[in-house]
Amino acid sequence: MKMKILHLYPKEMNLYGDHGNVLAIKRRCEWRGIDVEVVEHEPGNKIPDDIDIIFGGGGQDSGQGKIEDDLQAIAPKLKDLIDNNTPCLVICGVYQLFGKYYKTGSGKTIKGINVFDVTTDAGKERYIGNVTIKSNEFGEIVGYENHSGLTKLGENMKPLGEVIVGAGNNAKDKTEGCRYKNCIGTYLHGPVLPKNPKLTDFFIAKALERKTGQKTKLDKLDDIVENKARIVAAKRPR
Ligand code: GLN
Repeated sequence: MKMKILHLYPKEMNLYGDHGNVLAIKRRCEWRGIDVEVVEHEPGNKIPDDIDIIFGGGGQDSGQGKIEDDLQAIAPKLKDLIDNNTPCLVICGVYQLFGKYYKTGSGKTIKGINVFDVTTDAGKERYIGNVTIKSNEFGEIVGYENHSGLTKLGENMKPLGEVIVGAGNNAKDKTEGCRYKNCIGTYLHGPVLPKNPKLTDFFIAKALERKTGQKTKLDKLDDIVENKARIVAAKRPR
């Protein structure tokens, strides 16, 4: 069996180690005997049909501007995959563009693709530092944020978790990230997946479930180092 990961815009959207998320998924698959192919998507490319996991990282406003048109062009394909339960992780810059729009500090609106019912407007402050959130499904998740965008969730949008330390979506309502089907958006860089293996395995399990049509129980891995990394990161001052 081979797992195909679609990595959106690795050149334009890759801040604070976000690429490490793709490596974490790849390694945890390989340790379980599952082969992985990473398809790096750059503007103008075609998206293959047989994608199992979608990933997009963070980027500066300028990077978001560069990918705007291509993202609109591939939106129908991405939305089709996500509506069909393809697991997907998008961080910060791509998270914002999976919403309705991102309005920059200079007043430019970059269109989003409406996977999530969220809007983002640049604020006056920049939120930088380690973040800890609590989520019902994944327990404690630890990451690192650096954004000025303030994201508001629509009425029926579920957050990924509740902020314990940090700003999260908007530094106000204690929500962090959001979720639609198996697609998760979050501000957490770091990269977030290597030190939050439960979250990593969610994407792998959902991808296998979709591929095989059966509920999958993943082989257990030794997560001592990963869990230690999370505990240490959670103790770091902001
Ligand atoms: N430009 C966006 C913001 O500052 C995204 C930043 C990021 O991806 N880290 O809100």
